[in-house]
Amino acid sequence: RKRVVRVSTGSKQWDAILNGGFQSMSISEVYGEFRCGKTQLCHTMSVIAQLPKDMGGAEGKVAYIDTEGTFRPERIVQIAERFGVDPEQAQENISYARALNSEHQWELLNTLSMSFATNEYRLLIIDSIMACFRVDYCGRGELSERQQKLNQFLSKLNQMAEEFNICVLMTNQVQSDPGASALFAGADGRKPVGGHVLAHASATRILLRKGRGEERVAKIQDSPDCPEREATYIITNGGIND
Ligand code: ADP
Ligand code: MG
Repeated sequence: RKRVVRVSTGSKQWDAILNGGFQSMSISEVYGEFRCGKTQLCHTMSVIAQLPKDMGGAEGKVAYIDTEGTFRPERIVQIAERFGVDPEQAQENISYARALNSEHQWELLNTLSMSFATNEYRLLIIDSIMACFRVDYCGRGELSERQQKLNQFLSKLNQMAEEFNICVLMTNQVQSDPGASALFAGADGRKPVGGHVLAHASATRILLRKGRGEERVAKIQDSPDCPEREATYIITNGGIND
């Protein structure tokens, strides 16, 4: 039987509320407004996942699907330096692909299921899950088709997470329409996009927001094994930190 592995976020406080980090064999989702650090978390974990277990890693390779064009190799170099690993090697261990549309995103996922069969990969990043779907199915009449395609994608994702013991981390945007969030949002007034289909697929959901000064706050909204706690973190040259 495969054992669940955990990948550290780079912040001890954040790891603590997750009992050590994000888990393999299921999907985790971080959502929040622009600039709260979703992409920085993706970069940070792409390096940490490669590290030995005693450094919060999973000793694995990383697959990175970028739908917004915000991946920066220079950030990988800086984060690798923080952890004392060879920046060249850190970059080589990340298989990067830019998804151009939702169909392409689906093709990339299918290609990855072949790479994952080598058992070298432990982390799959999707930054962000909904960007392509929102562009490709933007009309009102297209919503049910969007949700159907999204469901197909997420089912495959969950199956791959379990079969290959992969930690899947996806980012998500929040509803920007203030009317909609007032009507439907929880106490925080921020609601992730993707509806019930996405809510059902993500085992762990975390809301990110800006805190005081440079501080940012991660709050668990949904988890199979952790209470709804909050942790603060900062973004540094070396990635997410306390
Ligand atoms: P999101 O993906 O949630 O929109 P990002 O992950 O792109 O947000 O985070 C953007 C924030 O990260 C900005 O506030 C920016 O100042 C900060 N940031 C980016 N690079 C660095 C760095 N090298 N050192 C400190 N902060 C950084
Ligand atoms: Mg981003």
